[in-house]
Amino acid sequence: MKKDVQKKNRQNAKEAALASIEMLVNLAKKEAASDPALAQEYGRIAFRIAQKARCGVPKSFQVAICKKCFSVRHFGKNTKAVPDTKRGSVVYICACGAKQRFYYGDMPKKA
Ligand SMILES: [Zn+2]
Repeated sequence: MKKDVQKKNRQNAKEAALASIEMLVNLAKKEAASDPALAQEYGRIAFRIAQKARCGVPKSFQVAICKKCFSVRHFGKNTKAVPDTKRGSVVYICACGAKQRFYYGDMPKKA
């Protein structure tokens, strides 16, 4: 009985954490142009919430924010996208040097 309650509480905490992460990512995207430092702080807070709740970051976070320096990706300014056609993926290279790979589909196609 007690374990069921604990499991339910953990699940609720994860759902709440994911909702607040989503909100912070949207805030960071909005603030990126006017105040990059504030946007970076939003990204950092979102990451900390994910760590605390052990829920992982959603895909929207990975695509929008660098996982190393937490700055919002802005193509042509601080991020470049390099296609890797052999692996069927795109590599996002941040100004801080972090690289993140995103596959087109679920798995890379082998010729
Ligand atoms: Zn970065």
